[in-house]
Amino acid sequence: MDICKVMHHFRECAWVQINAGDTALMWSDNLQLDGQVSTLQLRYPRLYSYVKDPWITILEFLDSQDIFQHFHLPLSSQAFDDLNILQSMLGGLNRTPGSKDNWFWKGTAKGYSPKLFCSHTFASASFNPLTAWIWKSSCTMKIKVFAWMLIMDRLNTKDMVDRRHWHLEDGVNCALCPLQTRETRDHQFFNCNFSVRVWNYLQIDWASGDSMAHLVLNASRSFRKPFFTEVVFIACWNIWIIRNAKVFRHERARFNRWRSAFIHDITLMQYRVKVAFKDDLLRWISFLPP
Ligand SMILES: [Zn+2]
Repeated sequence: MDICKVMHHFRECAWVQINAGDTALMWSDNLQLDGQVSTLQLRYPRLYSYVKDPWITILEFLDSQDIFQHFHLPLSSQAFDDLNILQSMLGGLNRTPGSKDNWFWKGTAKGYSPKLFCSHTFASASFNPLTAWIWKSSCTMKIKVFAWMLIMDRLNTKDMVDRRHWHLEDGVNCALCPLQTRETRDHQFFNCNFSVRVWNYLQIDWASGDSMAHLVLNASRSFRKPFFTEVVFIACWNIWIIRNAKVFRHERARFNRWRSAFIHDITLMQYRVKVAFKDDLLRWISFLPP
């Protein structure tokens, strides 16, 4: 079975009862609100069109000091009304923040464990070995979902959008370099001038291997650190952020901006990686060129 279909099927078929809120995606996981199970992006499409980061978890949303930081402002008056309704709904959630979220199959109240689901999925016939990597990494859920989309080539690159015959105002070429090259996943994250500079900076070499799995294996061997996965995913995540800022808000793609965001995010990983790796990670960060 194709893992994309499985994951897609899973997202559609499961719903979550929020407690901690750290396993559920704010906008794309099914929630029960008002006795009805649906995603917030379907429920509030007008508000959703202003969302800055569609991958945040519910916890990140609920914990934020300023709720407006999650949206491109100003909101339209309808979107603002949506936000007010959403806030009072979320305020009325009967959650125990210290407990785990509960996942259920849709239409039942039967519990299910994401871990069980994964082992079932990965045991099935053809799966991409790289995805096993994602769930083992110490990254946050947001980065894991992003990494999964990246590996499965499901991100909305211009190439992908074009293949779905959606209109692209600024053409299908990469926005981060002057090469006039179609913005595919491989170009954007590996061959683009911008990304090549990123990998040089991190001293990660994608040069050898005849399949993606081999490329990764060889690159991780030559990198020789136990936090290779986290470095790669966080690097890609921040390339994608810079790319989105350029495409949607015409902000200049500056390498320095990528670097400070990357260092910020990877430094936070000291609290998530295994304790034994923490000092090694901090030392590695301190040796990155300024
Ligand atoms: Zn490019």
